[in-house]
Amino acid sequence: MLDADIAKCFDRINHQFLLNKLKTFPAMRRQVKTWLKAGVLDGKKLFPSNDGTPQGGVISPLLANVALHGLENHLKNWITGKKITGGTGIKLSKSLKMSSLGVIRYADDFVVIHRDLEIIKEAKEETQKWLKQVGLEIKPEKTRLCHSLNIHESEKPGFNFLGFNIRQYKTGKHHANKNPKGEIKPYTLHIKPTKEAIDSHYKKLAEIVDKHKAAPQKALIAKLNPIIRGWSNYYRYSVCSDIYSKIDHLLWYKLKKWADKRHPNKPWKFKKPKYWKTKGGNNWLFSDGVVELIKHKKNYDETDKKVRKKGCKNQGTKFIKVQGPRSPFDGDTVYWSSRLGKHPNMPTSKSKLLKHQKGKCSYCGLYFKDGDVMETDHITPRKAGGNSSYKNLQLLHRHCHDKKTATDFKLIAEYQRQKELTKRIKTMLNKFDKQFLQGQWVWVDDIPVWIGTNDKSHVSEERYEVKVSRTVLKTSGSGD
Ligand SMILES: [Zn+2]
Repeated sequence: MLDADIAKCFDRINHQFLLNKLKTFPAMRRQVKTWLKAGVLDGKKLFPSNDGTPQGGVISPLLANVALHGLENHLKNWITGKKITGGTGIKLSKSLKMSSLGVIRYADDFVVIHRDLEIIKEAKEETQKWLKQVGLEIKPEKTRLCHSLNIHESEKPGFNFLGFNIRQYKTGKHHANKNPKGEIKPYTLHIKPTKEAIDSHYKKLAEIVDKHKAAPQKALIAKLNPIIRGWSNYYRYSVCSDIYSKIDHLLWYKLKKWADKRHPNKPWKFKKPKYWKTKGGNNWLFSDGVVELIKHKKNYDETDKKVRKKGCKNQGTKFIKVQGPRSPFDGDTVYWSSRLGKHPNMPTSKSKLLKHQKGKCSYCGLYFKDGDVMETDHITPRKAGGNSSYKNLQLLHRHCHDKKTATDFKLIAEYQRQKELTKRIKTMLNKFDKQFLQGQWVWVDDIPVWIGTNDKSHVSEERYEVKVSRTVLKTSGSGD
């Protein structure tokens, strides 16, 4: 594989090329042009930028993406013109050639993967040619040719990408994976946070602890928590479990020192319960009783409990790949909201339901497409006693909703009938109760037998009998 970095990425971009590539309307074109031409104001000193855009500015990664857009496709097209033979010596088809080459790029960092070293070398030259027209070049000191499993010309196996270290490891036969044909692969792929990423993260935490020597514990926790949460969420799709435990352990040491410095003359018996609380089997919860310090490990465990495979101790969450050429800016609200459970252009309730239904209509089972009219439906209609909680809601196509509403009428009618029936039975029982209290009863074989009223002027034997039989007749006849 070729692990390459692009030199002076934002400093020498060809403005004309970039603007032509944007293919935007004139007003936007002028605006971007002024951004490109604008100098950088650092403090009170102005750095004019004559031949490039400022690095590290808000717009730079976006511009880098625009400038380098198309490199992947260019290399894929380029490889179709090459003569490549497969493992059995047969010439590969066009699509197989394309899929044999892996090109991954994010901003100015990119990786080319192919099993043939010669192809990789040629791909590097081709990339350099392509970059020239943008006004960029590959940075030689940050570019390396390496292998994913073995050491290649004293280069370590694997590569780093966006803070992740990606490489294969040799395994014994008991931990080996099998390929679809059932053959044993004596290696496995692990994606981990890079050493640099772990170091800089711990450094950041340690600095915060040092800065808050005299601050209240609450303030320290408030500073640490968002950093821990963010970092552990970012790396949760990698082999991170052991690393998370390790950082938690290091941080515990750091906090112990922090507590020691605050009370140098107090015994540990005093400090331990002051700064660490016990909660549900955990005796080392760094907390002031109100706010708690979250743990990398715990944060990761909690978010991923449902998705983690059983027995897979070291694995992070399984990441579901974004479909082929999709981008959050492609305007496909339905895909992105069912994926994320939220979308700026969709009400939260709808996005939540979409995610829950995995993007499918619960009536017909088909996927929602962008542009479909979706309607929220009460599974049990409200007129049939259903409430408006999420459990009782579902998203349906408009036409599916119509069909479902038709069946709802039956349900509502049935509910109303039952409601009416209960009401009538209740009134009947009430009346019966009254009679019961007024009359004298004896129990014969578990059946109440009426032997007469206390107050004979109020109701007579005959009248009562007539009344009851009428109510019973009415009730039984009201249903159909
Ligand atoms: Zn439907």
